[in-house]
Amino acid sequence: MAMPTFDVAGVSIPKIGIGTFNMDGEPATCAVAEGLQGGYRHVDTAEMYGNEVAVGEGIRASGLARDEIFVTTKVWHDHLSDSAMQAACEASLKRLGLDRVDLYLIHWPSRDVPVAEAIAALNRIHSRGLARSIGISNFPTKLIEEAVHATEVELAVNQVEYHPFMDQGPVMAALAKHGMGLTAYCPLARGKVLEDETIAGIAARHDVTPAALTLAWLIGQDSVIAIPKSSSPARLMENLEAVDVVLTAQERAALDALRSPAGRLVDPEFAPDWD
Ligand code: NDP
Repeated sequence: MAMPTFDVAGVSIPKIGIGTFNMDGEPATCAVAEGLQGGYRHVDTAEMYGNEVAVGEGIRASGLARDEIFVTTKVWHDHLSDSAMQAACEASLKRLGLDRVDLYLIHWPSRDVPVAEAIAALNRIHSRGLARSIGISNFPTKLIEEAVHATEVELAVNQVEYHPFMDQGPVMAALAKHGMGLTAYCPLARGKVLEDETIAGIAARHDVTPAALTLAWLIGQDSVIAIPKSSSPARLMENLEAVDVVLTAQERAALDALRSPAGRLVDPEFAPDWD
């Protein structure tokens, strides 16, 4: 089956992308190049990952035309003033070897720079043509509302932690209200989905791995995009099998029921007040 997309803010985002956190150098270049050659069309990186040079090399090594690939990068939360963000984006583009990205995200909100100021800087990234679309990451509902209120350019997505053990109901409702997508990071709960009996049972019924089954549950939700990371080309391909899996309503409900208030894995000291 062809890769489904989520279309928003003038861009078409492939619903499964390659996560690249914690990979650099040759492994990152390889994962990106082989993933793209194997059918991925979407790559997620960030200035904070320190791997934009390697990711850019992987994009070129794939042999694909630039306009066939959706590239996202992110600005770190200490670069949210206008001058810092413009410089950070220019530096990311230089490292990636690109003249623009497809999506530029504020990686985390900042306690020092007000949302309105950061969003104005992000709008300027868009108007300067450095990014085809813009968005946010790790924004809880209150800050989503502030961001939407402040922006002139439509925001494409909020990239947040989302997997079967994590309830993102309030964030999803806020994003739906504004027509925005949700990009699920840690979509495999950093490997925890592999240990769950409910997921394993349903995966066996569909003859796919628990990872592919979980990704199918995620991308089966209208506005959800997922960016699983794997350093192994074989597992990257295994994860793509998700596009061919359709869960029954009963199976979806079984995964929905796994959510728990204690499911959050990523909660650094600079995190905002979550919903
Ligand atoms: P994931 O939930 O994607 O889990 C990655 C782990 O799962 C790795 O250990 C990987 O191991 C393993 N794995 C992947 N596929 C399989 C498989 N088929 N079978 C068994 N194990 C598998 O976690 P991440 O934290 O990497 O999140 C994904 C991406 O989201 C990141 O890479 C990054 O791009 C983004 N992200 C964004 C954040 C933000 O603040 N905006 C925060 C965190 C992540 P192996 O490599 O050995 O295959």
